[in-house]
Amino acid sequence: MHYTGASDSDKPLFNISATTEEIIQHREQVRRSQNPCPVRICPKCQEKSDSFIRHDKKSRKFRVVIEQLIHVVLGLLTCWKCPECGKCFMGYPPFAIPYKRYTIPTICAFSQRYVENDAMTYRKLIEETPLLSSTCPEWELAHSTIHRWISTLGRLNTTMNKAQDFILQAEPASTICRDLAGLTVPARKYLSESRKTLLLACKRLMEIENRFSRLFGVSIFHQLATNCAYG
Ligand SMILES: [Zn+2]
Repeated sequence: MHYTGASDSDKPLFNISATTEEIIQHREQVRRSQNPCPVRICPKCQEKSDSFIRHDKKSRKFRVVIEQLIHVVLGLLTCWKCPECGKCFMGYPPFAIPYKRYTIPTICAFSQRYVENDAMTYRKLIEETPLLSSTCPEWELAHSTIHRWISTLGRLNTTMNKAQDFILQAEPASTICRDLAGLTVPARKYLSESRKTLLLACKRLMEIENRFSRLFGVSIFHQLATNCAYG
């Protein structure tokens, strides 16, 4: 049998969401002003500070997936102000990234399944693991949403480069550079060079995230991505 990279590709994805409890816990921390600032360096001016100021609270409706059903959970985010430059930036909890209502585990699970399996298509991904809503059919996960998630992840170049530097500092003998250089994307998955670049970057990001979280016990999508202003 020809090896395509993922032998269990027809199984639905499991554990593909932040939990309601996580979001509520974070919300209550924000409400009581007890959530720590995710960074020590300002993403706007790059100055170090231990005293970022709570400037504002913003609500966000997150989409949590429980047994493939979409539920909406209200979360709260803190907008932080830098004492050095006076500019504000949004602090995201580990389960969230800017402009996305779905949580990191959902975005990564679908994106990873797509980029790591050469035979995978967006439609097949949705057929295998549909995300449904009992109240709003228009919320059901569309294949175009997964396409956009991959675009977002594929643009986190600064985060990716910093994460790679940290991995190499911790493990100078790491084969990560060679392994990343060896990753490819099949030609039938893209029509343009720009899409090819995004797919490849997303695939590399997923590999870096796996190694980074194994090595440091935290995800690149939290402090590191915030520090890099999600670039
Ligand atoms: Zn600043």
